[in-house]
Amino acid sequence: MSYLVLARKSRPQTFDQVVGQRSVVKTLQNSLSRNRVAHAILFSGVRGVGKTTLARLMAKAINCQAAESTRPCDECISCREIATGASLDLIEIDGASNRGIQEIRELKEKLRFLPTSSPYKIIIIDEVHMLTTEAFNALLKTLEEPPEHVHFMFATTEIHKIPITILSRCQQYELKRISAVELYDHFHKLAKSEGFEIEPAALSLIVREAGGSVRDGLSLLDQMFSFGEKTIVTQDVIEVLGLVGSELLMQVTTGLLNQKYEDVLQPLDQIFDYGLDIKRFLADLMAHFRSLLLCKIEGCINLIDLPPEELIEFQKLAENYSPETLHQKLNLLMTTAEKINYSNQPRLTLETSFLSIIEADNITNVSTLLGKLDEVLQELPDQIPVSPVKSIPSTSPKIEITKAKSPGEYVPVKGVEETVLKDSPPDKNEARLSGKTVENDTVRADDIHAVAIKPHAKDVRKDWLDFIAYIKNRKVWMAQVLQRADSFKQEKEELHLTYSDPTNCTVLRQKDNQRLLTEFTLDFFQKPLKIRFIVPEVDNSPGNSKSELSPHRKRQELANDPLVIMAAEVFNGQVGDIRVGPRSRQD
Ligand SMILES: [Zn+2]
Repeated sequence: MSYLVLARKSRPQTFDQVVGQRSVVKTLQNSLSRNRVAHAILFSGVRGVGKTTLARLMAKAINCQAAESTRPCDECISCREIATGASLDLIEIDGASNRGIQEIRELKEKLRFLPTSSPYKIIIIDEVHMLTTEAFNALLKTLEEPPEHVHFMFATTEIHKIPITILSRCQQYELKRISAVELYDHFHKLAKSEGFEIEPAALSLIVREAGGSVRDGLSLLDQMFSFGEKTIVTQDVIEVLGLVGSELLMQVTTGLLNQKYEDVLQPLDQIFDYGLDIKRFLADLMAHFRSLLLCKIEGCINLIDLPPEELIEFQKLAENYSPETLHQKLNLLMTTAEKINYSNQPRLTLETSFLSIIEADNITNVSTLLGKLDEVLQELPDQIPVSPVKSIPSTSPKIEITKAKSPGEYVPVKGVEETVLKDSPPDKNEARLSGKTVENDTVRADDIHAVAIKPHAKDVRKDWLDFIAYIKNRKVWMAQVLQRADSFKQEKEELHLTYSDPTNCTVLRQKDNQRLLTEFTLDFFQKPLKIRFIVPEVDNSPGNSKSELSPHRKRQELANDPLVIMAAEVFNGQVGDIRVGPRSRQD
């Protein structure tokens, strides 16, 4: 007994049987009833959405001998010949295997003769984008002046590959993917007519896998029908087609959102045990997060292609999370999908990536964060001590202060401005601690902690990167400022930091921050080092006024703006990009 695959067996023979594409069908039928069928029609769309089906139906309708032209009768000689593939007046060409100029010349030769038994000769060229340029050119002449007795029907999955000269001579129809609901109904009826019973969840799975293509769905159904059971249950579909079940997918989805490690890692074990397609699984998971995200975006619910009951389930779940959280987790999933492509340890990659997604905190709205920043700023004193200074016990005179020559003045040496940390008499200390005004304080490292110097202290030059990392764990902004230094070196008991642009270290040079850096330096290198900033003399000439700063300088200034540094500190973040210039977009 010969077996006819479902896709061929169930091919629509009338317009009413076409799945989806209602508006295209209606337009085509209108053109038939008004006798205004174009001589060249182009159907485009992804595979399995009905391009050649519609072309054949049009061929039937154009040549049908019944009175009503808008629906082929499927009974007259012409209709029956076309249905059985015996019609001499319907020429079907596969553009992929007949793509050269020779084939088109042969075709044109055939067109010179009148149709044998029908009013028209119909030429269907499938995958027409595969034709060569010469073949297209040869075809173009015919399209410009088509013989009265000829109709062309083209089908393509890649409309962008067709020359504009050809496109402009065709009436174009873009076919959409078939919606999940339409596919579900269609497959449901088909299964019934074939004598099969399918569980709704099982059918939903097949619909999901079909991805809007009737043909893909039908070949999956074919596989299930040949599985042998008259009642098809979800587990069968999962096993036969190697899919990840909806339940499992939902479990992973909620697990990632609710930070339940077990709900994420256990299903993974199952997925690997059964050898299921990981990329497919990730794609399905991303589709879940996309649907959840769309649930949160006003006016976008129609973009979710899900059966109604599943949609309600998604809407309920989405209620518990902010769009930002869903967006972030979806982004992380996308990164994971990329990583999997290159990983030779897919399981490990997936597990660690999923752990990161679980651990990615739920995101708070930006306005809430800004509110938080405001609160923090209000609690601070007027001057910005970026890092809150530890309280200094008044009983232990640990900080010595040197008063500079005049307030705010540094001593320039050979065009280089240096902050010199000097020893000072102990009584100055009292001035600070008793609250008297002292400007331009400098700090002595070895006075902050009386720590014994260890024999195997770290080396400034060798361990600089470790030092930066050490600081980064404590003060992210400070590590960034240190990284901006043009050079660093240890000179005897001093740590020299050279900045060609003084604005890069303005904040770090504030006494409290300098003190903190000195502490960190002592803790890390296990030796007291005075911090010395080496910066060029500040140019105060009129040409250098703030309004004329170069974009580069402006960016640097912005990066060093105390508020920016403060924000980076509060959020434990770092500045990614600074854009200077007029706002290109008004909100
Ligand atoms: Zn007919």
